Amino acid sequence: MKAVTYQGLKNVAVKDVPDPKIEKPDDMIVKLTTTAICGSDLHLIHGMIPNLQENYVIGHEPMGIVEEVGPGVTKVKKGDRVIIPFNIACGECFYCKNHLESQCDNSNQNGDMGGFFGYSGSTGGYPGGQAEFLRVPFANFTHFKIPESCEEPDEKLCLIADAMTTAFWSVDNAGVKDGDTVIVLGCGPVGLLAQKFCWLKGAKRVIAVDYVDYRLKHAKKTNHVETVNFEQKENIGNYLKEITKGGADVVIDAVGMDGKMNDLEFLASGLKLQGGTLSAIVIASQAVRKGGTIQITGVYGGRYNGFPLGDIMQRNVNIRSGQAPVIHYMPYMYEMITSGKVDPGDVVTHVLPLSEAKRGYEVFDTKTDNCIKVVLKP
Ligand code: NAD
Ligand code: ZN
Repeated sequence: MKAVTYQGLKNVAVKDVPDPKIEKPDDMIVKLTTTAICGSDLHLIHGMIPNLQENYVIGHEPMGIVEEVGPGVTKVKKGDRVIIPFNIACGECFYCKNHLESQCDNSNQNGDMGGFFGYSGSTGGYPGGQAEFLRVPFANFTHFKIPESCEEPDEKLCLIADAMTTAFWSVDNAGVKDGDTVIVLGCGPVGLLAQKFCWLKGAKRVIAVDYVDYRLKHAKKTNHVETVNFEQKENIGNYLKEITKGGADVVIDAVGMDGKMNDLEFLASGLKLQGGTLSAIVIASQAVRKGGTIQITGVYGGRYNGFPLGDIMQRNVNIRSGQAPVIHYMPYMYEMITSGKVDPGDVVTHVLPLSEAKRGYEVFDTKTDNCIKVVLKP
């Protein structure tokens, strides 16, 4: 089959790889119809996630039609239309039973965190979903079955696999409530979708920060938020604190390891990005009010464990963070889309055949061609 493979720094290629096979009784094989590129995939191609081999198949926002099921699979059958979450989870362990499917105890033999599709050896080494077919382990639990009556297009539904659900979880996990002022750092798909959910949760003020003008314009036009281009401010953290009169109740970091820097430079530079701009987590620690909450949704690798916590501790700031436990939110996201409560579709700017994945990565990474989210069609 054809699949998107990692080929070293900033390089991917669509290559022929072996078709996946049922390996365990509760595996299924899904023939993918749609699969998106995530900001997390950029961290991979920027070399920021350890334990990544060349030719590894990447991608973790897939959906499609069940092609084959193992003898232990009872919850889906051949022909069902399914969305596959980025989390691989057993559904039986302590974490799965307590709605923390992103930390499933049984899906990652390589480390003390859950297993994910297409996200290197450190999250289990599972081949990813930017491909024609995907092997789904723990298939009875690791899926959302789309009702047959559903007429929503793949381009919206695939966002349930990660971007939309992660955005919702970020806002929920941060505890955004009536009357809050929320700053969302990052106007990529996750940040843009989080802005919508801030309003739904009753926020009275939502401020979006980025340095890419067309994304800020999109945020203003689509989500009716205030926008700030951080490259136009000398000290963005202080500026945000000033305009929120002491800091925001909640700051959501929807940035993570920005692709403009490498992490060793980051630590060596005293937490400053090249060009003198601060990293998102530092901006967040300045822009949050005393006793407020920072939600870290942007992905940071373990090497960031040197982050200095002084400011946060001294100001009673709460830190919430993690990999979104997507699975149990999926039915709710589906209901939001089909009831018309939230339409996530505006973030999808590019729908390309899988064969053009390289171009998709290029425009998404370089923030050109007004790209916000790329969806691939295998
Ligand atoms: P993206 O790369 O499209 O968006 C990031 C945005 O942040 C870009 O528009 C970029 O211009 C902007 N940015 C860069 N530096 C900034 C700064 N210092 N301040 C404000 N904005 C800045 O990616 P995305 O798909 O929206 O994902 C966003 C982040 O969320 C990534 O780190 C991704 O890995 C992470 N993510 C986490 C989870 C999870 O479960 N925690 C799930 C999905 C994605
Ligand atoms: Zn993702």
